[in-house]
Amino acid sequence: MHHRSLVAPFLPSLQRPTLACLSWLMVAALCLAWPRPAQARSTPTEKSEPKVEKAERTEKSDKQSSDKSATPVRDAGKEEGAAENLGVLRQRLAERLATRPDPAPAPSAKAEARSEAKAESRAGKRAEPKGHGGELHWAYEGEGGPEHWGELKPEYRLCASGKRQSPIDIRDGIRVDLEKIQFDYQPSGFAVLDNGHTIQVNIAPGNSLQVMGRRYELLQFHFHRPSEERINGRQFDMVAHLVHKDADGRLAVVAVLLERGRDQPLVQTVWNNLPLEKGEPLPAPGQMDLNQLLPEDRGYYTYMGSLTTPPCSEGVLWMVMRQPVQLSANQLNIFGRLYPMNARPVQPGSGRLIKESQ
Ligand SMILES: [Zn+2]
Repeated sequence: MHHRSLVAPFLPSLQRPTLACLSWLMVAALCLAWPRPAQARSTPTEKSEPKVEKAERTEKSDKQSSDKSATPVRDAGKEEGAAENLGVLRQRLAERLATRPDPAPAPSAKAEARSEAKAESRAGKRAEPKGHGGELHWAYEGEGGPEHWGELKPEYRLCASGKRQSPIDIRDGIRVDLEKIQFDYQPSGFAVLDNGHTIQVNIAPGNSLQVMGRRYELLQFHFHRPSEERINGRQFDMVAHLVHKDADGRLAVVAVLLERGRDQPLVQTVWNNLPLEKGEPLPAPGQMDLNQLLPEDRGYYTYMGSLTTPPCSEGVLWMVMRQPVQLSANQLNIFGRLYPMNARPVQPGSGRLIKESQ
């Protein structure tokens, strides 16, 4: 009716049936011509968006849970640090090793994924900090850079206001008989993830360390270039952060400084298994033994700090191995092609106690 009344004034001589036919044709033509949002969005550039969004959501939920429980564990939307038992942790780790993406990360997730995590924009858009909603995402330079992390989201406020932030320039430590870190690492399955901020290796359950009466399970390790921590002002070529968590949700990170030298077999294993796409852990064939990454000399520095990525949650026990481990120039360059600079600047020591092995 409505359509006919629109058409009728222009076609006064037409008979009723013809008019009705024409009206329907116009409706059909309108329907065909009308832009359909779902399809309009599926341009090649944006096809990767859902994946990216997923990676970010995962990161967000990790972050928030980190905020609550000081944990950088991934898939943390479901996780509430303190109440978590080892069984749940193991199950989650097993899930994490699977290619299956996280089904429904709560608006809450850590680690490190970024807005420009579009697989096809690996090189070109690295510095672009804006997500599809115009929302700023954290990065290592530009508008989303470390000096702005605290302003990006309320849950990142500690990045700006925290008094026990990491990394720090480690100096003037007190030399004492530090208890040995008891590493209990064994050959384990793993998956490699490019989360948009670093290369992260998720490790199957069964690796842990014991220190100060607590047992911490190894969850993942990842890399920074150059090293985030400094020793007496010296920065190293890279660092590996081995992230552990105990049954109460407390975090302990072991930092292994990496410097140019010989080939590092474990690093090579990780590079050999780099995923082609961001945001999806790629389960690797075979196993890796984290003992291969530890330096011979187990002396270390220790202090209380934070996550070095948003939300910068504090209460993290840091153990920085004093002896650096070598990796080759080629291995260094491979990471440099993916992440030329992903180190947070050093934060004020603010009178924190640093202890060091004799
Ligand atoms: Zn790190």
